[in-house]
Amino acid sequence: MDIRGSVPIGDSGLAQRLRREIEGEVLFDAFSRGRYSTDASIYQIEPIGVVVPRTVQDVVAAIQIAREAGAPVLPRGAGTSQCGQTVGRALVVDVSKHFNKVVDLDASARRVTVEPGIVLDHLNAHLKAHGLFFPVDVSPSSRATLGGMTGNNSCGARSIRYAPSATTASAISVPAAGASTR
Ligand SMILES: Cc1cc2nc3c(=O)[nH]c(=O)nc-3n(C[C@H](O)[C@H](O)[C@H](O)COP(=O)(O)OP(=O)(O)OC[C@H]3O[C@@H](n4cnc5c(N)ncnc54)[C@H](O)[C@@H]3O)c2cc1C
Repeated sequence: MDIRGSVPIGDSGLAQRLRREIEGEVLFDAFSRGRYSTDASIYQIEPIGVVVPRTVQDVVAAIQIAREAGAPVLPRGAGTSQCGQTVGRALVVDVSKHFNKVVDLDASARRVTVEPGIVLDHLNAHLKAHGLFFPVDVSPSSRATLGGMTGNNSCGARSIRYAPSATTASAISVPAAGASTR
């Protein structure tokens, strides 16, 4: 079995279809692939290409198109992972640019709904006005996104008292290939 997969790096057919069907950026050029071939780890693997989705519909469409093409999908936040979690021969989906908002805050229930690309420090700046904070204090808090923290089940100095990221999340919405976004 060829573990490298059958979709070529920089596949122009896949890029063209993505450009036709999503609003966000489609980055299949060598420079972009080079930028996304690294994270904070020692590993370096060139992706097939990168999409920077603008809408949830973009995310669903990108996953569906990748699935039909036989390309793996690799979500990415800030890329501060240290074990190569965000590098791979896949279609990288970077949610850090357009999915970085607080959707809803119920301060009395201490429950906040966020988009996955929001940076921890930005979330805490928002929560501070309500006397709240997100209790997982990872070191790269000025970069790390809530999606990436949940993916890594990130921990911090206070996680023994509170909880790691995945436990702190009470619900996660996951777009899937073929899913409706309505
Ligand atoms: C100097 C330094 C210090 C660090 N200190 C800590 C620390 O104190 N505690 C700690 O736990 N970690 C630490 N880390 C590791 C890392 O920074 C954290 O785990 C961080 O929370 C990852 O966030 P990120 O946005 O960079 O995620 P990324 O690296 O972008 O992604 C992490 C994982 O989540 C997945 N992912 C990202 N977004 C999504 C999404 N929207 N949907 C589904 N999956 C997604 C990715 O595919 C990947 O598998 C440190 C790293 C560095 C470089």
